[in-house]
Amino acid sequence: MKELISGQTIICGIIGDPIEHTMSPAMHNAAFKALGLDYVYIPFKVKSLELKKAAEGIRGLNFRGMNVTIPHKVAVMQFLDRIDPLAEKIGAVNTIVNDGGILTGYNTDATGFLQTLHDRNVEPAEKKVLLLGAGGAARAISHILTREKAQLTILNRKQELSWAEDLAARLSRNYKADIKAGELTNENLKKAINAADLLVNATSLGMSPDVDETPVPADLLHANLTVFDIIYNPLPTRLLREAAAAGAKTIDGLEMLVRQGAASFEIWTKIKPPVDVMRQAVLSLLQKNEK
Ligand code: NAP
Repeated sequence: MKELISGQTIICGIIGDPIEHTMSPAMHNAAFKALGLDYVYIPFKVKSLELKKAAEGIRGLNFRGMNVTIPHKVAVMQFLDRIDPLAEKIGAVNTIVNDGGILTGYNTDATGFLQTLHDRNVEPAEKKVLLLGAGGAARAISHILTREKAQLTILNRKQELSWAEDLAARLSRNYKADIKAGELTNENLKKAINAADLLVNATSLGMSPDVDETPVPADLLHANLTVFDIIYNPLPTRLLREAAAAGAKTIDGLEMLVRQGAASFEIWTKIKPPVDVMRQAVLSLLQKNEK
């Protein structure tokens, strides 16, 4: 981001509803500024009924790239020209690039999650992974973990249990794997967590303002676990504090947020992203919001 926006400035942004609390503008504009790129990143509040017009607007206004967040990640796909094969399998897109009027959709939530595991030297292949949640983020994570040959169990709240079972059945078929699904109860948690190598929280339990919530009772956590909570506000969550106290290795959601943003940045600019700058921008914003 240069000091002045000019006729040459390249425009990226994010569409979602609500959009008021997004960290992405701070993260991307800091990265553009650090590299002296003549880009700017703007949040757009887009209602579901206006999504088609918003997608057409990316072409019409010649925006270079767009992030997509709740509730548009699935619905936006029908308005794009091409979908990257991984995003197609996941059935959700969080990044769009505009190449001369051709809109292509990607899913960098999935790759950001995997990159974070690699950065922390956690290799999911053949590991027993317990994934909590079956919402949008869990869907991306479950695909990438299955692709990477993890042995996956998905536990979700009862009301969406059939969705988790459908997801597990589809993953099992697509990847010729044996993915298990069940209800998120203490009994099922106890059964799955003892044998697990990696626990991933992809529910919103414990997210601000409900910072005293946790999806896993502390006495079930153990030292042989890596616990990855994808929530990035607060840092750390109650789950991660209790996991650390139990001797587990912990990974927080900040890194996944930064890595998915960095992957989007690289798709748009074709330049290696300044990951440290992006991380610091989010941390500063989180600290500011705490005050
Ligand atoms: P979502 O699609 O709304 O899914 C929410 C999930 O949380 C569902 O599985 C839901 O279960 C579960 N849940 C909500 N309240 C619950 C409760 N009281 N008890 C048990 N389960 C509960 O949201 P999402 O997009 O997947 O996001 C989930 C979390 O991940 C959010 O905190 C979000 O901020 C975070 N996230 C982080 C990143 C990152 O880059 N770090 C990226 C994406 C998302 P039901 O299906 O039963 O409702």
